[in-house]
Amino acid sequence: MSKSEPVKNITGHCLCGGVRYEASAARRQVIRCHCEMCRRAVGNVWTATQVLREDLKVEEDGCLSWYQSSDHARRGFCNRCGASLFFDSNKRPTMGIAAATIDQPSGLEFAAHIFTDDATDYEPLSDGAPIVPDGQHGITYP
Ligand SMILES: [Zn+2]
Ligand SMILES: [Zn+2]
Repeated sequence: MSKSEPVKNITGHCLCGGVRYEASAARRQVIRCHCEMCRRAVGNVWTATQVLREDLKVEEDGCLSWYQSSDHARRGFCNRCGASLFFDSNKRPTMGIAAATIDQPSGLEFAAHIFTDDATDYEPLSDGAPIVPDGQHGITYP
């Protein structure tokens, strides 16, 4: 965490409540990933924080489904309301969590845009945050 103290006790859920989770601490500030896979998977820019997988407790998973989006990663979503919630790569010990599903106030801060080479032509990218044209999913930014 670069700008503030580690965030404790994140809780969150999807729109219908069919998936609820809690995590003891966030490991990264919020990034917005503009890569084409994330955009098509979530219907928007993937805006996410990260926690250690062992720190994430999915307390309600009755509607949680997974889509294997590549040979190393899967994406967790609610099969009732359609919300995107998790990004789980077997290349790292962390789980990405959709920041917008975290209960407010999240205590998180926005850190960077990544994979902006793939950004849509209507995305302004003019908020002054750091821009990482290619980047890697899962790295700590900035
Ligand atoms: Zn739901
Ligand atoms: Zn992405």
